[in-house]
Amino acid sequence: MDCRAQMLQVIKLLCQERLIMGTWGNISVREDNHFWITPSAMPYTAIQTKDLVKINLQTEEAEGLWKPSSEWRLHAACYQSRTDCKAVIHTHSVYATAFAVAGAPIPAAVEDLIQIVGGEVEVADYALPGSFTLAENAVKALGAKNAVLLANHGLVGLGRDLEEALNVCRIVEKTAQIIVAAKTLGPLSAIDPADIQAMRQYYLTSYGPELQKEEK
Ligand SMILES: [Zn+2]
Repeated sequence: MDCRAQMLQVIKLLCQERLIMGTWGNISVREDNHFWITPSAMPYTAIQTKDLVKINLQTEEAEGLWKPSSEWRLHAACYQSRTDCKAVIHTHSVYATAFAVAGAPIPAAVEDLIQIVGGEVEVADYALPGSFTLAENAVKALGAKNAVLLANHGLVGLGRDLEEALNVCRIVEKTAQIIVAAKTLGPLSAIDPADIQAMRQYYLTSYGPELQKEEK
């Protein structure tokens, strides 16, 4: 499927699952030497493929009918700093943003988060939305992981494709909810750093559907 058609599908899911609302949040996908991003301030229910904006990763020139999302620098910085990154989704989902407001990283205490993100979700230093500094701070706090919180703002999720970036946003939001619930029950139980690394490695190299081997 064309990556722009896939973007529309993912936008629909993000709205249905209330990970994005109104015109807030933005998504992009890398294709060759450019990326496609949602336009600025357009309601998600109205966006069509012709409304998506193309941005060149070298020149940072935008091409399209509308102005790109004001967070285009954040998306560009993710692609420029991470060759493995092929899709970026930025949401203001409620529980993830609650951690971002509290300045509290989401701990690596749930296995699916560890596998898909690579460890705890750090909080990037505060900067104004749409600024170069926000993009710089986000990439710095992101490191080699697939998600980062923007202080007092929201979440950025990355993936090797759009589906993975969507799952990152879903799993981070779910984990944030779990941590809040678990804390009401008592202290969190930690996972050994060596196990965290092993789970991440397994996910990156071996996870996925596999046909059963035929018995001989
Ligand atoms: Zn935002």
